[in-house]
Amino acid sequence: MNRQKSFENDKPTLYLVPTPIGNLSEMSPRAIEILKSVPVIACEDTRTSGQLLKHFDIHARLIAYQNFNEESSSKGIVNLLDQGMSVALISDAGYPLVSDPGQTVVSLAVASGYNVVPVSGPSALLNGLVASGLIVEPFLFAGFLPAGQNERRKMLRYYRNYPMTLVFYEAPHRIEKMLTDAYEIFGDRQACLARELTKMHEEFLRGTLGELVHACQDLRGEMVVVIAGSREDPAPDIDYSHLLDQVQQAIAAGMSARDAVRSIAAANGISKNDLYEHYLKKEGRA
Ligand code: SAM
Repeated sequence: MNRQKSFENDKPTLYLVPTPIGNLSEMSPRAIEILKSVPVIACEDTRTSGQLLKHFDIHARLIAYQNFNEESSSKGIVNLLDQGMSVALISDAGYPLVSDPGQTVVSLAVASGYNVVPVSGPSALLNGLVASGLIVEPFLFAGFLPAGQNERRKMLRYYRNYPMTLVFYEAPHRIEKMLTDAYEIFGDRQACLARELTKMHEEFLRGTLGELVHACQDLRGEMVVVIAGSREDPAPDIDYSHLLDQVQQAIAAGMSARDAVRSIAAANGISKNDLYEHYLKKEGRA
């Protein structure tokens, strides 16, 4: 177990600092104070973050932390913590780690026993969700769907029976395809497209998925899509005996039981825990 009392030790700290998603006045005094207090700030793009930091008169050394070199940059950051320096991690906008780099360094810093301290701040997913007009709790944040249509439709089928409100990020050049797939797979559910949050042209399109497909064609800017959860029975009839046969075949072909269950569950859009429970029952182990 790892227990952290954030302000009751003098260990070096990795701060997770959110930055504005469009409106600079959403940079909090605490975020500025922390960014001014650390010797090093790790960011996605030193030019983008350099401008933000200049605006707030922050002069820490900037280092790059990107998806394609997360492993080595994480080690570099933990090296700085080893030397007694606290480091702040930021992304181009919003929270680091939320559809942005940061997962690896947080895991490594926690495993190395350092403080990992979050700062509150802007988040496109929460802004989109709370103003969507849809039921807020429970919700599931799914981030970006895969860009390829087959993979995207497979993920949407996976979420189809989820009863909770679903929140997605999407790029403007893919929004029409994504909404069309969602409409075909989910049916004409209530949804909201939130665009350019906190900026001059902030806009909410609240309606059904079918209406959004028609309305989204010329829309530009940054977008969050919120879709109502399924009203269907969340546990539809599933033919477990057929799926368990597939699990047995995968095990016979050399997979571990857990991998076989995970892969058959994912391919059929069902819960791996439920399938594993059935598997254990069949094996007489539950
Ligand atoms: N880390 C960010 C966060 O915490 O929200 C998300 C970064 S992700 C690379 C960028 C995506 O977030 C955009 O494509 C869009 O889907 C969403 N996004 C970011 N800013 C937004 C805004 N102002 N309005 C709507 N969506 C936004």
